[in-house]
Amino acid sequence: MTDRMSFFDNLSELEERLVATLTHASDIKSDYQKILTENTSLRIENARLRDRLAELSELETPENKQKQADKKVPMSNLQEIYDDGFHVCREYYGKHLESGEGCLYCGEILYR
Ligand SMILES: [Zn+2]
Repeated sequence: MTDRMSFFDNLSELEERLVATLTHASDIKSDYQKILTENTSLRIENARLRDRLAELSELETPENKQKQADKKVPMSNLQEIYDDGFHVCREYYGKHLESGEGCLYCGEILYR
């Protein structure tokens, strides 16, 4: 009888530890996701500023303006972030894309 009680006590203790460990792992995952999203948001801001700066530093001749109007090339810095698997759209800003997932909102920004 005592052995059985001891066994159940040990089992309960093990269960508590596993639950605590699982909670801890879940907290770490959640923190990591938050940091990743924050980091991506900063990368997007940086990319937008770089793209804007590149636009501004190009010569403002009518010829260049026409070239810019004709080009349908995606914004390079944002494209890089999107290719890394993160949303660059306002709807899911900085969140991670599932493997193989595409986003129409991101596409609108990249190919407008
Ligand atoms: Zn998106």
